[in-house]
Amino acid sequence: MKGSLLYEGKAKKVYTTDQPQQLILSYKNDATAFNGKKKDAFEGKGRLNNLITSKVFEYLHQHDINSHFIQSLNDTEQLVHQTTIVPLEVVVRNVAAGSITRRLGIEERTPFTPPIVELFYKNDELNDPILNDAHAYHLTDVTESELMQIKGMALEVNEQLKALFKDVGLQLVDFKLEFGRVEDGSIVLADEISPDTCRLWDIETGDKMDKDVFRENIGNLIETYENILQRLEAYTCAK
Ligand code: 5GP
Repeated sequence: MKGSLLYEGKAKKVYTTDQPQQLILSYKNDATAFNGKKKDAFEGKGRLNNLITSKVFEYLHQHDINSHFIQSLNDTEQLVHQTTIVPLEVVVRNVAAGSITRRLGIEERTPFTPPIVELFYKNDELNDPILNDAHAYHLTDVTESELMQIKGMALEVNEQLKALFKDVGLQLVDFKLEFGRVEDGSIVLADEISPDTCRLWDIETGDKMDKDVFRENIGNLIETYENILQRLEAYTCAK
C-alpha cells in the first residue's frame, strides 16, 4: 500500500509503503535538461520510462545484476528496495557524445575501446562536476572496495545492455548509473535506466533515439520513447 510522499525529484516521486525498506517510485511526465534550465512536460513520458526501466532491470536481474528493482506495479509506478544513494553518477561511454565531446574536444561518434568510465558528483548546486577517485573518497563515504565494485558493476551492466540493445537494433552510446546501499550495507544498482539516462542510436539510420531529441529539439520525445518500449517488448515476447 502506498504511503506518504518521501521525496520529489526532477523525474520521479518517492513514496513510503506499508513494508519497511520498500518504496514506490512514481515516474513523472516532466523532462528537464541542462541541470533543470530546459523544462517541459510530455503526457505519457512517466509511463514510458517506468515500463522501459522495468524491462531493463528485469533483464539485468536475469543476468545476475543486483538492483533495487522489485516489480512494476502499474503504468507509472514501481516497487523498489529502499537504498541510501551514493551521491555519484557513474557514466559509461562506448562512443563519444555529449559532455565528453565538449570537455575534451573529441569528435562525436568516435568509438572508445575499451569503454570509458567517468564519475560525477551528484550535486545540482555544483552542476554535477566530474570527479576522480580521490575526489570521490573525499566528498562521499564510498570506500575503495565499494568504488571498485561500482565500476566493475557499471562495466558489467554495459556488456549486458550493449547486447540487449544491439538485439533490438540500437547502439548503446553511453549511460548514467546510480548505486545505493541496502539495509545490510551491500551495494546495488538503483535509480532508472531509460532513454532519459542512456544515449541510444538506431544502428541502421544513426538516428538519436533518447533524451537528446529533447535536449537538441530534433524529434518527438514520446514517439521516440514509445518506439524503444515497443522494441524491448517485441524482444521479451520473442524470448
Ligand atoms: P553527458 O555527460 O554526456 O551529459 O551524459 C552522459 C550520459 O549520462 C548520457 O546518456 C546522459 O543521458 C546521462 N546523464 C548524465 N548525467 C545525467 C543526469 O544528471 N540526469 C540524467 N537523466 N542523465 C544523465
